Amino acid sequence: MRALILGGTSDAGRLADAIARARMDAIYSYAGRTQDPAAQALPTRIGGFGGMSGLADFIRRERISHVIDATHPFAAEMSRNAVAACAATGTALIALERPPWTRISGDNWIDVADIGAAVAALPEQPACVFLAIGRQHLAPFSVKPQHAYTLRLVDPPDRPLPLPRTDLIVSRGPFTLADDRELMRSRDIGYVVARNAGGSGARAKLDAARELGLPVIMIARPDLPERLRVDSIDDVLAWLGHDARLGA
Ligand code: NAP
Repeated sequence: MRALILGGTSDAGRLADAIARARMDAIYSYAGRTQDPAAQALPTRIGGFGGMSGLADFIRRERISHVIDATHPFAAEMSRNAVAACAATGTALIALERPPWTRISGDNWIDVADIGAAVAALPEQPACVFLAIGRQHLAPFSVKPQHAYTLRLVDPPDRPLPLPRTDLIVSRGPFTLADDRELMRSRDIGYVVARNAGGSGARAKLDAARELGLPVIMIARPDLPERLRVDSIDDVLAWLGHDARLGA
């Protein structure tokens, strides 16, 4: 058994810890997006594989028997490549995927299918907008330059931002309710734009928006091909053949 973890999330880091404790043979893979990626408890590689065929070559070369897709739920290209490369090489695949957030009483969510629909859902009259969507999908919002956008990014941007009026916060989660309430109050935020990532590290903005009665434009997860999915690290370990109840 030799596993490949497609990582880049806090869940993937916790999985790497558990696999290392279980003394299983595994490699952790980062895309290489952040400047200072967290050290992992497993041998680590960084950078794209070169599409589906590059990943299939890597799987064969490294004699990978099990692939665990623990990428962010919006990392759709990597997830699609994993499905195709595992099918092409006859490799077992599982996705470690946090459940999406669901609305609770008091939430004022506007559900949209994608980034384009999120842009369309913003009003025409100027507003202060908290764009909590990372740095890769900012450009579509440039068609609504009348808004003042607050951005929160993990790293300082390495090129000019595509939006004219931005207030940039560089910070790595997890974020607390008090942090996000203060962020929204102090900037007079009128709309929050979020992607339905799930998990606890980025959920505070939803709780703060509810408290402040703010609408959240909630972008749905991308559609992905069918694959085996679990939401707990113990389930991944069991799938790998290690009984988590035995301890590490
Ligand atoms: P993406 O659009 O699905 O992936 C684009 C390309 O990046 C992939 O085709 C692949 O390149 C490479 N890549 C992605 N994840 C990789 C990994 N774990 N190891 C090696 N190469 C990888 O993904 P994305 O949205 O740009 O996200 C990039 C990474 O950041 C992911 O690993 C994800 O877990 C992490 N992340 C993303 C978000 C987010 O908001 N999307 C949030 C937190 C963390 P090749 O085709 O060359 O193999």
